[in-house]
Amino acid sequence: MAVSLHFGSQWLSSSILSNQVSIIARPDHIVSRADIHENALKVLYRLHNAGFRSLLVGGCVRDLLLNRHPKDFDVATDAHPEQIKSLFDNCRLIGRRFRLAHILFGRDVVEVATFRGKDAEPEDDSRLNAKNGRLLRDNVYGCIDEDVWRRDFTVNALYYNIADFSLIDYTAGIQDIRDRIIRLIGDPQQRYREDPVRMLRALRFAAKLQFTIEPKTAEPIYKMGKLLCDIPPARLFDELLKLFHGGAARASFALLEQYGLMKHLFPATDKCLQQQAVPYAQDFLSRVLDNTDQRIAEGKSVTPAFLFSAFLWIPIIANFNGKTAQRMNVLEIQKAGSRVLAPQQKATAIPRRVTSMMREIWTLQPRLQRYTGRRALQLLSHPRFRAAFDFLVLRAQAGGELQERAQWWTEIQSKAPEEQAQMARQLEGKSHRRGRRSSGKRINRAQ
Ligand code: ATP
Ligand code: MG
Repeated sequence: MAVSLHFGSQWLSSSILSNQVSIIARPDHIVSRADIHENALKVLYRLHNAGFRSLLVGGCVRDLLLNRHPKDFDVATDAHPEQIKSLFDNCRLIGRRFRLAHILFGRDVVEVATFRGKDAEPEDDSRLNAKNGRLLRDNVYGCIDEDVWRRDFTVNALYYNIADFSLIDYTAGIQDIRDRIIRLIGDPQQRYREDPVRMLRALRFAAKLQFTIEPKTAEPIYKMGKLLCDIPPARLFDELLKLFHGGAARASFALLEQYGLMKHLFPATDKCLQQQAVPYAQDFLSRVLDNTDQRIAEGKSVTPAFLFSAFLWIPIIANFNGKTAQRMNVLEIQKAGSRVLAPQQKATAIPRRVTSMMREIWTLQPRLQRYTGRRALQLLSHPRFRAAFDFLVLRAQAGGELQERAQWWTEIQSKAPEEQAQMARQLEGKSHRRGRRSSGKRINRAQ
């Protein structure tokens, strides 16, 4: 690869933090315009033609270098937000302090950010009262060679320049992509103090890209994890979704456990896992996470309610002090759910639409386990039937004893309405007979 060093070229500002930058010319890298979304190209070219610096940056450049499909395309420029707005009719400015431009193409959004100066705010502009060494200053626009040092990892700090199709690499990010390494830019402890969410981002990228976290980037996470408690719970919820809905939920969970971060994100669940309070918990969660990854790989929809109801199912079960999930009724589950949700909201704010779906998944469990006859048939048209059924199947696979019931629900869904009615009646008859035979005898295992 041809690498040229540029010192103080026309677009490097005088306040250079590092005086070395590698420019990788088009013939020496694989990023091709054919792989860049046409909307992103439109934005890049319009800025460029108006005389501004115009570059792709962040995850999209990283992913293109790895031959992966970028989730979205982010653009960086020296144009100020108002200048960007004047160039695009379909532009919306967002953010209170650090203003970003969203260029809207139907449902597709290309985010355009003006280069940030070295004193600019970190990602989350809601943390106005941050302490403990976090940055507090108002945003300051800067140049590319200031912008780059504010980015999190070397692999996320590469720019693709639409002016000559070259790559710009200040932080040896390309080498780290080659070596498959996640490395924080700058002093790791300071960077985590500035924004503790970077710890979660490190794990997320390591899991998703199957990269290794470089030791100096990894080591502080063990003792700095508690800083996550200062992050607004709503931001943590969003970060968790990215972590678990990025296609590598199982690997992300393993890293959260390895680095001891579960206790800050799901305190009650973590406690149960540590104490092994629910024997099949690990197995159940692994299955749920695998299931999520598989659905994403197949392009199927996923809902945060499913994952969160699974994580919190563990403390719900543990709450029953030995009473089995087989025997819990709807009201008991409702109460246990509320007991578990209240403290969880302090860690990760879960939006109401999600918690109401979680409650439905939970309270459908005893119904799916017990209902027969007409009441069972009605469950089939419950709006959350499918999610609750999937949940039951995973419980059955992990614990074993619900298998017969899970199988019955699997079968009934494939039948015509008359056959469904017949199955439901048969089940009713069976359960009456069983009720008479074994009055009081119940399976004694939590599930
Ligand atoms: P993804 O594939 O998940 O979109 P991404 O790297 O593009 O990954 P984004 O959250 O879209 O992640 O952020 C875009 C870029 O902004 C990052 O690549 C990084 O350069 C910068 N960035 C995002 N969050 C932070 C942060 N907390 N601290 C520093 N830089 C950040
Ligand atoms: Mg991105």
